[in-house]
Amino acid sequence: MKGFRKDITAWIIIVLAVAVIFYLYNHLQANRYIDHGEDEPMPEELHPIVEEKTETLIEKASTININVVITDTVRTKKEQRELYEQGRSEGGQVVTHARGGESYHNYGLAIDYALRNHDGDIIWDTNYDGNNNGESDWFEVADIAKELGFKWGGDGNFKDYPHLQMDFGLSINQLQQGLRPKKEAPEE
Ligand SMILES: [Zn+2]
Repeated sequence: MKGFRKDITAWIIIVLAVAVIFYLYNHLQANRYIDHGEDEPMPEELHPIVEEKTETLIEKASTININVVITDTVRTKKEQRELYEQGRSEGGQVVTHARGGESYHNYGLAIDYALRNHDGDIIWDTNYDGNNNGESDWFEVADIAKELGFKWGGDGNFKDYPHLQMDFGLSINQLQQGLRPKKEAPEE
């Protein structure tokens, strides 16, 4: 009988612990995300935190004499579909593996950058060292961006060197289901 009571107590503790963990997990998730379901409209502008970090990136790069140009921010699903056709049904090189709705650009969570050289031209040359410090300006920008919390496309399997994104822990699947990061940083 004593052993039985111990077993029951142990089980009650386990069940309570699981319930508490489940509650805390849901609470934290609810603090970070908004879930509107699949009817959630697509954002038309950059997420405010992504926008703020983009401005910081441009400022920080300029302090080491790198002129960053943002070439792309939010893309509509239609624009993404057209981009996907590039290098497939349309001419040119394949620039993306993401179909409409499959890119973080579609959710206002990604930007693409390029550099402006001393002649004022926009360039995509990853070897360019315009500030003459022996390092590629392109990679210097990527490093600053990563310090600011961006994920860089150059680190992925499909090399997308201009691409920077912040996913806020949300997968494309979750975004497609209507989950969105909150507009402010989550309260801890
Ligand atoms: Zn991109």
